[in-house]
Order: sequence, then structure tokens, then C-alpha cells
Amino acid sequence: MKFGCHLSIKEGYLGAAKQAVVINAAAFQYFPKNPRSLGVKNFNKEDSAQCKMFCIENDLISVSHSPYPSRLTPHHEQKRRQVVASLRNDLEIAEACGSIGVVVHFGKRIHSDPLSSYQLMIQMLNEILQHWEGKAKLLIENNAGVPGSMGTTLEELVQVRNLCEYPEKIGFCLDTCHAFASGLWTGDNWEELLEKGNANGYFDKLKVIHLNNSKYPPRLGKDRHAPIFGSGYITEEQFDQLMKTPQFQKIPFILETPKEDIPHVREIKLLQERWGDD
Ligand SMILES: [Zn+2]
Repeated sequence: MKFGCHLSIKEGYLGAAKQAVVINAAAFQYFPKNPRSLGVKNFNKEDSAQCKMFCIENDLISVSHSPYPSRLTPHHEQKRRQVVASLRNDLEIAEACGSIGVVVHFGKRIHSDPLSSYQLMIQMLNEILQHWEGKAKLLIENNAGVPGSMGTTLEELVQVRNLCEYPEKIGFCLDTCHAFASGLWTGDNWEELLEKGNANGYFDKLKVIHLNNSKYPPRLGKDRHAPIFGSGYITEEQFDQLMKTPQFQKIPFILETPKEDIPHVREIKLLQERWGDD
């Protein structure tokens, strides 16, 4: 099992990779640049190349997470152009660092007509991926909204990918807290979810899991992450069902849990003890 967590790049991309090894993580996630901005970063090519080499040598998987304002359903034309340029830049950085892809949240509904929000999102994906020839993929993450809000079902994720002109450049990221908040995973329907996602092709394209517990009960649409053990509404037995999924053995599990509650080094150790290979 590949357990890891989100790490800071304050010591550069290589610095984040080295930190992953220090805390015994098999995978890590990072923001390619300032997580609050959509600026295009002229990144350090030597640092990214060293990060890539270090990850190969240490059998580490890395995943990039796009900055928070990277909305696939922007409100204005100016924002639209910024998001496209920023996500292309994120893909370039991810490729240079040897990362599997860039996580981006599913778009949110912006018009009274929901269909136009999906159309805008598909247009955005086409524009971002049009000239992209790298191996890094865009990894679309499920939203945490209340049941029925945009980006909370497997069907939408699969359909948007299929309707894009470049589906082969798109994969998925499953956030367990978001799935719980939106009622996609109630904690008691894993078998059913797995069966559905296997049938519609979702799990084939799943590349990373954001492993988070939830500070709130299911279906409230609240995106508040809790540590896996000891607190949160998802029980160890419920996580157990997810962990036993055969095709998850090679997928990176990234903690985005509050490290003030429990240090990630400790949480990763607990995960390895509970669900690790031996
Ligand atoms: Zn997440």
C-alpha cells in the first residue's frame, strides 16, 4: 500500500520529496506554486529534474495539486484565461517533477441552467489539454457539495471525461471526505459504489485517493477533513472495506488531514500498521 501526505515545497520540489522519505511515506502531494494564486510560475528546472530523479531512485510517487482558485467553471472571461494558463503551467511543472498528474476539483454550477456549467467545464478541459503532450494527467477530484450538487457522482465524472476531446489525458482523484460529505459514500455502501464504478469505468481511471476522515456526518456537504483514527465520522471498519479493494494496492493514498491534530509521520505509521502490506 502506498501511503503518504501533502507536503510543503518551502525547500523546493526536491526538498518535499526528501521530506517524504524522512517520514516514511511512499507517496506525496505538493502545490506546484502559491496555492492562492493563478500566476504562471517560472519554476526551477534543476530542482524539478532532481525531484524526478530522487523519486525514481526512492520508488516514490508524487502528485501535484492545482492552486485553490483553479476553477474549471470560471465566472468571467479573464478568469477563464488565467485558469487555462495556470493549469497548463501546473502540468508542465508536474511533468518536470515526474509526477503522475495534477489534481483539480470538478467545476461548480454557476448558471441557473446546470447543463451550461458542464459545457463550460468540458470546453475548459479541451482548451487546457489541446496541445498537452506530456505524461502527467489532469486528475479530476469529486466535490464535497450536498447531494445533487455538481461533481458529486461517479456518473458525472465518467461522462465529463468521455465528452472531452482528450479523455486519455484525464484521470480521477477520489477524496473520501468529499465522497462522505456528498453522500456518494455513506460509509455503508462501498460494495455498491465499487460495483457501479467498475461497471462504468471510473475505477479504471482512478489514479490517486485523498484519504481523509470527515468532521461532519454524511450528506451535509461539509468539506472539513479529520484525521483517520480517533476522530471523524468515518469509522475504522468503514475504511477497512475501502482498503481491501484489490485494485487500490498500487494507488497512492494521500492524507490531507490536519497535522495539528496528529503529525503525518505518526498517522502514516498507523496506516501502515493497520493496512500495510505485512
Ligand atoms: Zn482532496
